[in-house]
Order: sequence, then structure tokens, then C-alpha cells
Amino acid sequence: MAKKRKIDVKAYKKRLTGMREEVEKLSEVTEEARKPVQLDQTMVGRLSRMDALQTQAMQLETERRRTVEIQRIDAALKRMDEGEFGYCVSCGINIELKRLENDPTTPTCFDCAELSEG
Ligand SMILES: [Zn+2]
Repeated sequence: MAKKRKIDVKAYKKRLTGMREEVEKLSEVTEEARKPVQLDQTMVGRLSRMDALQTQAMQLETERRRTVEIQRIDAALKRMDEGEFGYCVSCGINIELKRLENDPTTPTCFDCAELSEG
């Protein structure tokens, strides 16, 4: 069975909140870049328009990842509130500290993550 261990939840919470703020800030400052590309031929040449479309696609993909990141952070914060933080959501054992330290948003232990990715 899972043994009780001491995790500095407060420190993790601070870190997660900081991460969230950072992601949100990045999302804000890049909002302009995700707006639909101006298709006016007189404004931009054909090549630079392709560039613009490519840049926009990249920005959208980055933004999609930010959304996922925020969801992971929120889920981790919710687990903290419920006293479940640090336990694998899949099998319930303690998530390896090193793993948690590396990514506090991780919801699963190493084995379960391997299984779901494999
Ligand atoms: Zn697990």
C-alpha cells in the first residue's frame, strides 16, 4: 500500500501557479500572431503570405499545447485541494519524487505513463 510521505505541497502549488501565470502571459502576448492571416495580395507577396500562414499555424499549435498545459496544471491544483496530489491517478501509488520534481503536473507514476504511451 501507498505509504504516507511528506511532500511540500505548498512549494509545488507555488510552482504550479507560477507556471500557469507564465503560460497565460505567453498566450496573451502571442494572441495577435494567431489572428487570421490577411489575404490581401496587395499587402503581402505570395511567399511572405505562405510564411505568414506557416507562422500562424505554428502559433496555433503552440497555443493548443498551452491549453493542454493549463488543463494539466489545473488538474494538479485540483488534486492538491483534494489531498490526492503526488499519487498516481491510475494506480494510486506515490509518484516518484524525481518525476514529480521534473513535472509537477504529471498525473501518473512512471509505470502507468509507460503503459499509456506504449
Ligand atoms: Zn501508476
